[in-house]
Amino acid sequence: MKGEKVFRGIAVSAGVCRGRILVLHRTQHVITRRELPDNEVESEVKRFEQCLVKTRQQITEVQRRVAASMSATEADIFDAHLLMLEDRVLIDEVLRLIRTQKVSAEFAFHTVAERYVAALANVDDEYLRERAADLRDLSARVLENLLEVKDALDVRHLSEPCILVSHDLSPSTTAQLDRKFVLGFATDIGGKTSHTAIMARSLDIPAVVGLQNVSEELETGDYALLDGYNGTLIVNPTDQTLFEYGQLAKIKASLGEKLREIQRQPAVTLDGKTIVLSANIEDQNDVESVIAHGAEGVGLFRTEFLFINREQLPGEEEQYQAYRQVAAALKPAPVIIRTLDLGGDKFASHLQLAKEMNPFLGWRAIRFCLAQPELFRAQLRAILRASADGNVKMMYPMISGLDELNRANALVEKCKTELRAEKIPFDENLEIGAMIEIPSAALVADALARRVKFFSIGSNDLIQYTLAADRTNEKVSHLYEPTHPAILRLIKLTVDAAHANGIWAGVCGEVAGDVVLAPLLVGLGVDELSAAPPVIDEVKYIIRRIKLSEARALADFALQCESPSEIFARCLDLAHASAPSLFMN
Ligand code: PEP
Ligand code: MG
Repeated sequence: MKGEKVFRGIAVSAGVCRGRILVLHRTQHVITRRELPDNEVESEVKRFEQCLVKTRQQITEVQRRVAASMSATEADIFDAHLLMLEDRVLIDEVLRLIRTQKVSAEFAFHTVAERYVAALANVDDEYLRERAADLRDLSARVLENLLEVKDALDVRHLSEPCILVSHDLSPSTTAQLDRKFVLGFATDIGGKTSHTAIMARSLDIPAVVGLQNVSEELETGDYALLDGYNGTLIVNPTDQTLFEYGQLAKIKASLGEKLREIQRQPAVTLDGKTIVLSANIEDQNDVESVIAHGAEGVGLFRTEFLFINREQLPGEEEQYQAYRQVAAALKPAPVIIRTLDLGGDKFASHLQLAKEMNPFLGWRAIRFCLAQPELFRAQLRAILRASADGNVKMMYPMISGLDELNRANALVEKCKTELRAEKIPFDENLEIGAMIEIPSAALVADALARRVKFFSIGSNDLIQYTLAADRTNEKVSHLYEPTHPAILRLIKLTVDAAHANGIWAGVCGEVAGDVVLAPLLVGLGVDELSAAPPVIDEVKYIIRRIKLSEARALADFALQCESPSEIFARCLDLAHASAPSLFMN
């Protein structure tokens, strides 16, 4: 290929790198139907079973290596492979084919696995579609073992730095990469939540997915630049392009340095207003990242992730260990544990719940917990017990009014009485807050504020419920506007009700981690912002570069303005003027 060519995809991991491309071609196994004489059928069944054992050992080994070199979260990805490998329905179907049709194990396995992959690849659920990639990965490994072939390219032993380009990058290939030499990833397919993307972010190397058929158009040895900010792969970049990216690299390096310098500093505006910056976490493994990014505790522990992707409900003891671990590691910093928010788009596979017409308006979060007192009790006891080991606070999701708050509090009191009788320690003064994420809760915030110790505004849901725009439906994403005047008025109402009653109000939805919108929230009087650990540095950076007076002026303008886009434009102006280096991509 001659001359510069730009491929556009989806940016999934920030950063820029340049170098030679290494194209990983998909290993295509040609599987033909091989029929067996009667007396070989049972030995073929045995061969298949031995292959499953061997594959299991290999995966466990890769998982062990990943756990040692990356983190437990990345290693967990291989649990999905192990589960699929033990799927009785799939295995029985393969055995049945071998026995009834008298065909080779590779032909039987390939036939069944391909059917599963096709079914998964066609479902209307991004998560499940991405599991098709897991199954393909697993299937290739099983076939390689049955056919006794080696990987076409041993990515563990690369000899020079390269940008890996492939159709897709499987988690097991990713885990085996020789990281010294991998500058970045570029793939034809994939989404923001694909495992390749998750791993790239955790490896902190640039990655772009969804580049269509780039792996077919490019050849190993081509020279390219990968831009993980804007989602482009630029092949044969001109001197001008390289110069521009050289400038960008300098800017980003100096921004990175500035962000690191303030990691241990408070989030305080130029005129002295301190904002509490906390982290949103999903499980106990996120604690390291909370500390690394200098968060002042956890503002939202989404406990439902302990309940999904598994066969058995976590009991009181298991939950206690998870909550205790976080509380003890971050002590004396506060850890706000949110009670279970199942339902909506988060389901536990083992709870066979009836499908609902409107899951976001249905049996979700506190509604579900109040109807399942035993399940709720186990969690409340686990949280109370963990409160003896650190600075634990608790909040309820999806409170719609006083009644739910009172009922939940009554259950907490019951659990406290039990624990006292059992002489199990807990914090008698454990603070309880309410999430404000339903418009009705914002409208009765004054009544709620008299009965809780804090508010945490769940803007993700507050926006969806106020504007009647499903947060997961891209067809109505144009209506999902954080700067809609209705949203800002509800936030203001909530914050004012909190302050009038001597309690604080935070925001833990995605807007809290958005550097363009955070100043507006500060101007509306929000006391705490809670966001994913990696974005905390940038939010702190902008807070330290604005004045509270400017933020208030922005909020005053926004509260009397009728247009969401005009409000957004003003937010953008202030952010650009205050922290231009955050916007130089
Ligand atoms: C929210 O709704 O803003 C929130 C933080 O909760 P979740 O995203 O888990 O629903
Ligand atoms: Mg929510």
